[in-house]
Amino acid sequence: MRIADVTPLPPGSTIGMLGAGQLGRMTALAAANLGYKLHVFSPEGPDSPCAQVAAARTKADWHDRDALARFAAAVDVVTLEWENVPTATVDFLAARVPTYPAASVLAVAQDRLREKSFANSLGIGTAPFRAVRGAAELADAVAEIGAPSVLKSTRMGYDGKGQVRIKADTSLPDAWAEMGADEGILEGWVAFDLEISVIVARRADGEMAAYPAVENRHRNGILDVTIAPAAIPPETAAEAGRIATALAEALGVVGLLAVEMFVTPDGRVLVNEMAPRPHNSGHWTQDFCQTSQFEQFVRAICGLPLGPTGATCPCSMTNLIGDDVDQWPVLLAEPGAKLHLYGKGEGRPGRKMGHVNRPR
Ligand code: AMP
Repeated sequence: MRIADVTPLPPGSTIGMLGAGQLGRMTALAAANLGYKLHVFSPEGPDSPCAQVAAARTKADWHDRDALARFAAAVDVVTLEWENVPTATVDFLAARVPTYPAASVLAVAQDRLREKSFANSLGIGTAPFRAVRGAAELADAVAEIGAPSVLKSTRMGYDGKGQVRIKADTSLPDAWAEMGADEGILEGWVAFDLEISVIVARRADGEMAAYPAVENRHRNGILDVTIAPAAIPPETAAEAGRIATALAEALGVVGLLAVEMFVTPDGRVLVNEMAPRPHNSGHWTQDFCQTSQFEQFVRAICGLPLGPTGATCPCSMTNLIGDDVDQWPVLLAEPGAKLHLYGKGEGRPGRKMGHVNRPR
C-alpha cells in the first residue's frame, strides 16, 4: 500500500548513522557502493568498526544537543544500527532532518513487553508472558505461566544477557536478583523445533520487500549459524513472511525490520523479538542474494527502488566470535568461503569479530 510518494535522495547525499558497530560499518560500505557518504554519530571513538570506514564522524553523547544539531545540519537523512538509541535523541533529530525509523518504532522495539503486546494486538502469537516488577510478582507470574519459563529484563537485553531460566526448583528471589533490572518479563518456555527470522525492507511510501525465512542456530545465547533459506514447509515460510510484513506495516517502519520467530512442533510460528535495523541473520545476503540487506537498507531509507530478495544459492553464515577470528588464514584459503571482518582489535569472549558466508 502506498501512503505517500517518496522523492529519492540522490547519490552524493550523506546518510547519518546513529551507532558505530559492524552493522553501521557494512551499511557504510554498501552506501559507498551506491555513491552515498555516511556520517557516523556515536559516543564511541574513531577506531569503532563504522568510524573506520565512514566519510565523517561525530563522537558525542546521545544527549549532546549541540552535537546532534550540527550532525542534523550535516546529513540528508538519519538512520540507526542500534535500536536502543534514546527515543529523545531520535525525536530531536526528526524535528530537523528525515529520521528513520521513527522514535515510536524504537519505543516498541526497545521493550520486550511492548513488543509482545504489539504482536498480540495484531493477532500474532508469542510465548505466553507476564510483566514482573519484583520477586513477589515473579512468584505470581510463575504460578500463572508455570515452569520451565524464562525471566528477561524488559529493556537492553541481547544475546541472552539479562535472562534467567526458571525451573520448578529455582529460587525466585535469587532469579530476580540475578536478572538485575527493575522490570522484567516472564515468558513461558517454548519447546520449539527451530528458530527462524525474516527481514523486511519498507520505504516511506509503504512499498515492502521481504527476504526468505532463514534458520538461526544459537550457541551460548549468541547466534552461531544461519542457514538460508530455512528448510521449512512452504506454508510455514509464507506465514513467517506474512507476520514480518504485517509487523513492519503496522509499526510503519522505514528501513529494515528483522523479526525473530520460533517454529513449534505443531507448525505454529511465534514472534520472539524484532529489531528495526540490519540483522546478523541477514549477513548471508552479502554474498548469496540478489540484493544485500545493507544495500536494501540504503535503498529503503533513501527512497530508491527496493531490490529483489531471492537467494542466488543455498548458503550458510557462521559468526566468528571471540578467538574464532584467529581462523582467518584458513578461511581465506577455503574455496568459496567469503570472509567479512569488522576491524575490532581484540577477540574477547562473546564479541562478534566477523562472519563467513559459504555456499551449501
Ligand atoms: P532473546 O534475547 O529473546 O532473543 O533470547 C535469546 C535466545 O534464548 C533465543 O534465541 C532462544 O534460543 C532462547 N529463548 C528466548 N526466549 C525463549 C522462550 N520463551 N522459549 C524458548 N527459548 C527462548
